[in-house]
Amino acid sequence: MAEAEPRYDVVVIGAGPGGYPAAIRAAQRGAKVAVIEKEKVGGTCLNWGCIPTKTLLASTELVAHAREAGSFGVKIEGITPDWTAIMERKQTVTDTLVRGILSLLKANKVELIAGTASLTPGKKVLVKGAEGDSTLEADRVIIATGSEPAELPTFDFSKPVVMTSTDALALQSVPKSLIIVGSGVIGSEFASIFSTMGTQIVMIELMDRMLPTEDSRVSKQMKSTFRKQGIEIKTETTVKEVLEYRDDGIKVEISSGDVLEAEKLLVSIGRRFNSGGLGLEDLGVELDERGRILVNDRMETNVGGIYAIGDVVGGIMLAHVATFEGLVAAENATGGSSTMDYSVVPACIFTTPEIGSVGLNTDRAAEQGIEVNVSRFSFGALGKAIAMGEDRGFVQLVIDAGTDKVLGAQIMGPHASDLIHEVTVAMKLGATAEDIATTIHAHPSLPEAIMEAAEAAHGKAIHVAPRGK
Ligand code: FAD
Repeated sequence: MAEAEPRYDVVVIGAGPGGYPAAIRAAQRGAKVAVIEKEKVGGTCLNWGCIPTKTLLASTELVAHAREAGSFGVKIEGITPDWTAIMERKQTVTDTLVRGILSLLKANKVELIAGTASLTPGKKVLVKGAEGDSTLEADRVIIATGSEPAELPTFDFSKPVVMTSTDALALQSVPKSLIIVGSGVIGSEFASIFSTMGTQIVMIELMDRMLPTEDSRVSKQMKSTFRKQGIEIKTETTVKEVLEYRDDGIKVEISSGDVLEAEKLLVSIGRRFNSGGLGLEDLGVELDERGRILVNDRMETNVGGIYAIGDVVGGIMLAHVATFEGLVAAENATGGSSTMDYSVVPACIFTTPEIGSVGLNTDRAAEQGIEVNVSRFSFGALGKAIAMGEDRGFVQLVIDAGTDKVLGAQIMGPHASDLIHEVTVAMKLGATAEDIATTIHAHPSLPEAIMEAAEAAHGKAIHVAPRGK
């Protein structure tokens, strides 16, 4: 008699920040769960994205601070960043976190299966692993296969001088010069990392401003900050063609007709959805023309019992969004009833200085004809920021002109990625600017800038001179 295929209540495909929390939540709810991963648990976020970039930034920010130590009255001589040691630390951090996920999966009795999964009719999941193929039976499937760096046909990615973000995170040495194609979040974070390491950087951006999806004031100030850091940004520009690939560099012609040369070129123009090869077409799962899996607000596809979450469903492609979508899918796949709410999602950019944003920005408010009161406070007027020597940037609140409710915020400055969460919670609770302004904030602290911006909305900020005086 043939051996019965192992049966699970829930099978999750992909163990990134979407998949592994989904697997754990389903197990917490009493389901028998397997998660299938073809590379490393933690996915892009932990291995080739959020965590490695932030670990490198922690090192480069330390270098930048050490270089400024003299102005704090501290003499540090001979600051020598060691790229090999920096990369080793990055790997140690990543390995520690991977081990943590492995032990969490084990403690929650989630079976981790190594291999590449695809779906076959009749609720079967085929796994191609190093030790051969196997088939599982699944009552419910959660697809959490994520995304990969998008490539541009202009470039030959088989040449080592052309890099994706994944390649840039494996560089053995710091390039002397770097062309970055795309000035979005990922391109800008790499620009911050490598410019501190002394790399000469030129960024090429198709749109009329860097960080084109951010509030225009943030883009403008970031551009001027980057310029002061020596990063050149060419907007409304594309790479026309590659003139030469060499072992030690690349020569390209850009749309203005100028020729640029650099040791490396990084393409950071977005991500493509990992929905190919999963057998979805045969099962009738709907995708859009770009390969994004279509889901409803319960994270369920058009085929009952098959859910999809994270980058592979597009929308806001961030780790914390993938996690929340995973939890919603896991609850629905185990008899619960949960829906995804995207109304208050913070997003952070870990440049120097950082950017944090949530909700509506001033450009979207103008496009949508929403009448808003925009209120700002500069870190240049904040005691704590000046004491820290980090007084660049501002807090901007976007407030409903009629109800005084906070609809959004943009923060550029020290710890913006932490500060944005005060506004995030306030928005989630439906707070008004008055609510924030009348909440006592500790002094001296960075969140005081948020309180002052809220006070300024009603002309009550103590540290802002009244207009025209
Ligand atoms: P992924 O993390 O991509 O995980 C998918 C997993 O599925 C992978 O491990 C893959 O190996 C596996 N898989 C794919 N196909 C199969 C298959 N057929 N069978 C088995 N396994 C499969 N987001 C933030 O919120 N903050 C940040 O600071 C941030 N920084 C980033 C920096 C960079 C350089 C990059 C590239 C991304 C960054 N992101 C950041 C985005 C974040 O990494 C993604 O939004 C997040 O990883 C998406 O999670 P996911 O679980 O949907 O997919």
